[in-house]
Amino acid sequence: MLQPQLHLQSRLPNVGTTIFTVMSALATETGAVNLGQGFPDFEGDPELLQAVSQAMTQGLNQYPPMAGIAALRERVAHKIQNMYGHSYDPVQDITITAGATQAILTAILAVVHPGDEVVVLEPCYDSYIPNIELAGGVAVRVPLTPGTFRPDMAKIAQAITPKTRAIIINSPHNPSSMVWTQDEMRQLEAILAPTSVLLISDEVYEHMVFDAQQHHSAASFKGLRERAFIVSSFGKTFHVTGWKIGYVAAPSALSAEFRKVHQFNVFTVNTPMQHGLSAYMNNPEPYLNLPAFYQRKRDLFRQGLSATRFKLLPSQGTYFQCVDISEVSDLSEADFCTWLTREVGVAAIPLSAFYADGFDQQVVRFCFAKKDETLHKALDRLAKL
Ligand code: PMP
Ligand code: GLN
Repeated sequence: MLQPQLHLQSRLPNVGTTIFTVMSALATETGAVNLGQGFPDFEGDPELLQAVSQAMTQGLNQYPPMAGIAALRERVAHKIQNMYGHSYDPVQDITITAGATQAILTAILAVVHPGDEVVVLEPCYDSYIPNIELAGGVAVRVPLTPGTFRPDMAKIAQAITPKTRAIIINSPHNPSSMVWTQDEMRQLEAILAPTSVLLISDEVYEHMVFDAQQHHSAASFKGLRERAFIVSSFGKTFHVTGWKIGYVAAPSALSAEFRKVHQFNVFTVNTPMQHGLSAYMNNPEPYLNLPAFYQRKRDLFRQGLSATRFKLLPSQGTYFQCVDISEVSDLSEADFCTWLTREVGVAAIPLSAFYADGFDQQVVRFCFAKKDETLHKALDRLAKL
């Protein structure tokens, strides 16, 4: 207990431990198969691990440049150019970050003033709203269309006011796995055109889009990229979520403000990982092959789930599969996930954790970034349902 004179007024009074941590702890405690928190249970490519080890043993272990090593920033600029057709300046426009989480917080702290409004589309990743609140901003929550999770352009347009400083979008989308179409990106471009609203585009699942669909990065749209911080995560792309390394691409004026904050919240990001990644990214195949790699796992998992009473929602991208539980249980999503972990031995994540008001639509999320044997083990257990 703190002494009364040390009493703290919490800066995040409504925040507890994240659902991902809670469900992973419960899975460990109960020995359940963990399809909750989004992370692979297999290793990254040995070539990448080797490239990082080599950098370490070669003595590349001291502070790198504040914005990231030049070679990695060049690789990122090259990748964006090849995939999305826009050329960012690696020196001024690309910053290496300690994962996407830090990138998003830093972007928000860099541009949001107290009282500014930031539009978020719910369900949304659980760090966005607390990040906005830490900056003194006000989160304006706009629902994605219930059932399909598609962006409702009329609602987005309505939510924008003279106080709006930014909007955060996320495609491919966690948790629903919905992928924005080119037309939806164009509509957003048109909505934002007459405004000074900035865009934070969370594209951490950019290389996980299925069924020959395409990821439409904000970088491909002039009216979006000129106002955007585009965020991605090497952790997702290369199966190394624990490395906590990603990047932000933004026009130089935005990047300059971003770096003012970045240099005082992390200053720099781990050196050997940067060298390892830049050597490894010489070959684009690992990320170009990612859709096929994950689509096969998705199909295996969906095939197994089709034998249960879960109703399968579409999985267009990411490494998540959502299911409607209404035929299986009357429990709330959160209680169902706890029950499923304890009694059936499979951990999942309730979608209500992605809504500030805990909205419950009887849908839960599974992560299929797992070895086939892990997926089979989970499916054997879920078959009872
Ligand atoms: N945004 C979304 C939508 C995510 O799902 C995640 C997490 N996995 C992140 C950001 C954070 O990524 P990182 O681990 O690189 O911080
Ligand atoms: N992004 C991952 C997920 O949605 C987990 C990240 C975290 O644990 N904060 O499951």
